[in-house]
Amino acid sequence: MAALASYPELGCTGGPYEVNKGWGVFEEVFCAGNDSTFAMLEGVLAEVMELFPSELIHIGGDECPKESWKACSKCQARKKAHDLKDEHELQSYFIQRIEKFVNSKGRKIIGWDEILEGGLAPNAAVMSWRGTEGGVAAAKLKHNVVMSPGSHCYFDHYQGDPANEPLAIGGYTTVQKVYSYEPIPVELKPDQHKYILGAQGNVWTEYILTPEHVEYMAVPRMLALAEVLWIPKEKRDEADFIRRLEAEFLRLEGMKVNASKSLYQVRLRLEQGHFPGMVKVNFIPPVKGAPLSMKWTDDGNWTSVADELRPRALTDQPSSTSMQVCMVDTLDGQVRKKFPVTRLSLAFNKATAQKITLSEQPHERYNEGGAFTLVDGITAQEKRVNTEWLGWRKGVTITMDLGSEQEISYVGIGALNETYSWIHMPDVVEFLVSSDGKNFTSYGHHTENKDGASRIRGGENRQGALCAHRGEAPRQHPRGSSRSGRTSVVVLG
Ligand SMILES: [Zn+2]
Repeated sequence: MAALASYPELGCTGGPYEVNKGWGVFEEVFCAGNDSTFAMLEGVLAEVMELFPSELIHIGGDECPKESWKACSKCQARKKAHDLKDEHELQSYFIQRIEKFVNSKGRKIIGWDEILEGGLAPNAAVMSWRGTEGGVAAAKLKHNVVMSPGSHCYFDHYQGDPANEPLAIGGYTTVQKVYSYEPIPVELKPDQHKYILGAQGNVWTEYILTPEHVEYMAVPRMLALAEVLWIPKEKRDEADFIRRLEAEFLRLEGMKVNASKSLYQVRLRLEQGHFPGMVKVNFIPPVKGAPLSMKWTDDGNWTSVADELRPRALTDQPSSTSMQVCMVDTLDGQVRKKFPVTRLSLAFNKATAQKITLSEQPHERYNEGGAFTLVDGITAQEKRVNTEWLGWRKGVTITMDLGSEQEISYVGIGALNETYSWIHMPDVVEFLVSSDGKNFTSYGHHTENKDGASRIRGGENRQGALCAHRGEAPRQHPRGSSRSGRTSVVVLG
């Protein structure tokens, strides 16, 4: 966008364009029908190649929406002149033209896996980021590949429970998950393995403001990826790696690297307790077999818990409760600063840990905790998408059974609006109550769309035993519904 704002004549409409103040994928792109676009990009690449002696030059080539090309007479003329069947082939023409230029300087291009769309340029290497499919397809076509799937190689994703981590873009990629990565996809035959050059870890900085925070996201996950790439599969040993990290952390400390200790964070998983209104807290130890034990406190006095899953029932008295859990050294049992503390606050209301049913299961990518997420006593925080929110692509009816007829002061549900992440507010939320589970009467209605997360409220001060929420996915998505492997969803929490 900055390039188009400075050189509006290189866009399909001629502008004016404005430098965007947020991040995202933008509809305004370089005009593929304008030769000046290529002259400018070749000038930039010539300077890049002067600066960097490497054989491979990364040209990006990803996240290019095609809408402006479809509406542009110059782009359409180019399509016709080169007998291109659609805008994907126009993108391929674009990449191949850039490749010819880079090749003419004795170099080769590498680009994100979108450069496969519409036909791959003859000598191009591919960086596979939208899963592994792009890498598999390119290797089968005998092109070199660098694997960088979001599932294992994106170090801007959360590495611990999002509730205890600095705000991140999403995802959940622990050190162990990175270590479990095998860069050679199983779909490839042995003679195709040689096309997988290796893997790359990415730290995008949309949510990262300081170098210290970059270090926190990259280390120790980059150590895990380095070992995956340097050590043959059969010699990798996760437990041994985790043990060796202990010494590595001391070295990193000496080097003043702000390494993350999220590896040692106890995870908490909440589920329905034995009785309605009770929340069961499962402590999940972070490191198997490490010489550590867990302690917890809800009042400042630390008590040991067994080094295994252990339920702890919380009743609805008092109406809110909080606890802290952390790993301790087993040698002296002291709580030390080096292990991060996991904090949990629960706010109980009449719906907490009551029977809940969903007419439609959440989308698999937004369903970490299941239906219980909506009644677990945690008020979902903005952008903590994976553990505190559930997402649907279709409308859903959520039914809460309070067990008996009760006074309700208000009914509400949280909803997230983050259009850049393809997450949208529901068009309509309807609240209904019933005293027999069959006949429901309206209890309020919501149609307003707001930015950010908001609590959608139904009616107040009425009596009822059951309530149902219905959220309809917006009919008009501002952007394509599944571009870049992402999915448009309505997210409730
Ligand atoms: Zn154009």
